[in-house]
Amino acid sequence: MYRKPHCKADHVGSLLRPRELYDLRRQYDTAQCSPALKTAEDEAIKQAVVLQQELGLKTITDGEMRRACFFDGVFEKLEGMIYIPEQPIYMFKSYIPHIAMMYAMGIEHSPTFFCNGKIKRKQPFYVQEFQYLKRLVPCQDVSSLKVTMCSPTWFHQRHGSDLTYDTSVYKCDDEYFYDLGIAYREEIKELYEKGCRNIQIDDPTFCYFCSEAMLEGMEKAGVDHESLLDTYIRAINYCTRDRPADMTISLHMCRGNFKGAHFSEGGYERIAFKVFNMLDVDAFYLEYDTERAGDFMPLRHLPSNKTIVLGIMTTKSGKLESVEYLKGRVEEAVDVLCCTNPFRSREDALDQICISPQCGFASVWEGNPINQYEQRLKLGRLVEAAREIWPSEA
Ligand SMILES: [Zn+2]
Repeated sequence: MYRKPHCKADHVGSLLRPRELYDLRRQYDTAQCSPALKTAEDEAIKQAVVLQQELGLKTITDGEMRRACFFDGVFEKLEGMIYIPEQPIYMFKSYIPHIAMMYAMGIEHSPTFFCNGKIKRKQPFYVQEFQYLKRLVPCQDVSSLKVTMCSPTWFHQRHGSDLTYDTSVYKCDDEYFYDLGIAYREEIKELYEKGCRNIQIDDPTFCYFCSEAMLEGMEKAGVDHESLLDTYIRAINYCTRDRPADMTISLHMCRGNFKGAHFSEGGYERIAFKVFNMLDVDAFYLEYDTERAGDFMPLRHLPSNKTIVLGIMTTKSGKLESVEYLKGRVEEAVDVLCCTNPFRSREDALDQICISPQCGFASVWEGNPINQYEQRLKLGRLVEAAREIWPSEA
């Protein structure tokens, strides 16, 4: 089954919050909600949809306007997970790159979730949000709307196999991820029934396995990282299996995107063969905006029935990439895909590539150090480049 992404010029999902929403967000913590905030979110989503339509982007998201952080909307809605507002820092694994930064900053507590019971999806994650978004576009565009959702591995990576769940409830990681997979599949099924055909799972964890510093830390802590990587691949596959033939599910991975900061470094070589071949997803949104993600050589492991969305534009600064630069980067990737596989023509390689920014513009509500005008120019530039590279498709 080869399910292709919905367009050649794409983006990872989150967009800068408009001023009104930004100012209101500042007044509330992540758990609070108010009618004024809801109204501002509704309005921000309308503006985000118009922006994407005007620029000619075919995959439209709600910009994650209703979220404080990209991972909101899943774990807090699951039965079996409890919110812990102040978990002591020693309950977090210091080898995880963004947690290492918290240790370095002297942070003593952090909010998190703990699994203290059997996981069940008692309420939808994003169905309501999808229904709202759906009303803002013509019927024929509904199938291209994209819903982004946090990876099932998000809380496990920071707490490890010993502190993520009550071991009297789940005996091992696979039992925990199996039930999470059921919850995700129920969500995917309901979204599908409402017309959704395009889901992106956001997973910063995979790129952490490209970081030598994290792997060394895991070894010191006695964690078998190869085995953990396999566990995380199975965790995603529990979520995506048995999806309908016309449902595209992609996976985005990067090295962190917190107000423009990243947390880890290292090329994809260490994980490329496994993630490209063993993950049961249709496309990979890969960070490729700076040398911290390494070169394109790991792309040689890409099988012929999956797509890569090259994140060759940066959202971490307002500096605008030229069309020539973007075309050159795509050519480089095509060279790698062709030179390493004699059965792949340049047309085949181009067919397997899309372009996007390396991550969202606002993985957290505060956003990256870039303004609305620069965001608009960048997204427009992507569409412009895609039209030159793929004149018949973009
Ligand atoms: Zn990202």
